[in-house]
Amino acid sequence: MPDLDELLNQVEAASDEIVALEVALVQIPSINTGVMPTGDETPVCEYARDWLAREGIEADILERAPNRGNLIARLDGRSGNAGLVFMSHTDVVPVEDESKWRFPPFSATIADGRIHGRGAFDCKGLLTAQLVAMAVLRRNGVELQDGLVLASGADEEHGGRYGFGWLAQEHRDAITAPCAINEGGGTPIYSGGALTYVLGVGEKGRLQVEIQIKGASAHASVPWRGENALLSAGQALQRIEAYQPELDTSASLFDYLSTFAIEHQVSPANIDQVIQETEKTNPSVASLMRGLSRMTITPTMVRGGIKSNVVPESVQVTCDVRILPHQDEAYVRRELERVLEEVPGVGIEIDYMAVPSSSPFETDLAERIKTAAARALDRENIQWVPAISTGFTDSRFMRPLGVTTYGFAGSHPDDDPAHNRVHGTDESIGIKSLVNSAKCMLALAYDLLAVK
Ligand SMILES: [Zn+2]
Repeated sequence: MPDLDELLNQVEAASDEIVALEVALVQIPSINTGVMPTGDETPVCEYARDWLAREGIEADILERAPNRGNLIARLDGRSGNAGLVFMSHTDVVPVEDESKWRFPPFSATIADGRIHGRGAFDCKGLLTAQLVAMAVLRRNGVELQDGLVLASGADEEHGGRYGFGWLAQEHRDAITAPCAINEGGGTPIYSGGALTYVLGVGEKGRLQVEIQIKGASAHASVPWRGENALLSAGQALQRIEAYQPELDTSASLFDYLSTFAIEHQVSPANIDQVIQETEKTNPSVASLMRGLSRMTITPTMVRGGIKSNVVPESVQVTCDVRILPHQDEAYVRRELERVLEEVPGVGIEIDYMAVPSSSPFETDLAERIKTAAARALDRENIQWVPAISTGFTDSRFMRPLGVTTYGFAGSHPDDDPAHNRVHGTDESIGIKSLVNSAKCMLALAYDLLAVK
């Protein structure tokens, strides 16, 4: 049986094949608008299933609703139990304005050492890396003690009701193992010349808040006879903009700031000042500290009015709210009621989409991920910090099942994470990151599962 170095060399030699697989997956537009029918994840699953079949690996596609496939593939081990789950998702967020993109968003154009397209980074890159890692294990006949599961879910971008949320309820056995690795971490950060990786140990929760603002309609030529809900909405938005969230520095990241040469003992009293100082030298760390020290309330959509000459009687403002692990729905409601107290005609509806979750940082799996990354990069001097992600991922469905789950995509340190533009215009992934990610996945699975 070849050793790990030989397997990692095979991944490096398969770069063109890895790029071709990623390009093919990005070219399938599995856009999830959040409103059914949407997603169209099944064609992505079918492509991956057929690709795996050519490697002699069987996979199933499980659908809660038509065309909303979840891909589950398996390499069995001697014990009959699964030891590790490779997680990813097959849906992508919509494209807001295609004309602003440098390349058409589903062209998967290769330029500047990167593959450009919606979903290139989030999350088809990780899916590609995991498919290749699985195939290389199989090609070399690597015998496993515990099995490897690859699970790529639908609907991650809209709450997972057709994906991991459903799998965790209805197909728990198919996706459960002691350990899982998913998106939501693995960002390389350079600080003072040293390489630091962020390991995703948890995530903030997300709530979608609908603020209903009621007024009274009238003809727009005599506006004083009505109550203009749009003007009240303006007041509401100003108050949200001025909102000062409670500051908190209890997240584990704040215990590791010396890794970034930040020697302050941070507290709610000085955190904003430390962020401001760090902003100049290390904007990505500053942004991380900002996200992990407060709840955010972000207005994202507004709907209202029926005609240009009618005073609107109803306006709806949608907000995206991200909470810290110790905050909950009741806290959000109290805060919003206080902020909007003096705005007339306000009602608040909350859809609690994702609870915050976290895994401990000191585990065997964390150590093995560090080892895998060191092997993949052939580099020893890597520092690690635990971070709660500001976004949420499907990991939150796994942690309550007792699965230790980390976010680690294994991006290459030569690729600037600022270019990934996840959910934005010109999303892309560096080819070096794609290959390194496949190496990390392979090294982790080999270390954790292979019969030695
Ligand atoms: Zn994602």
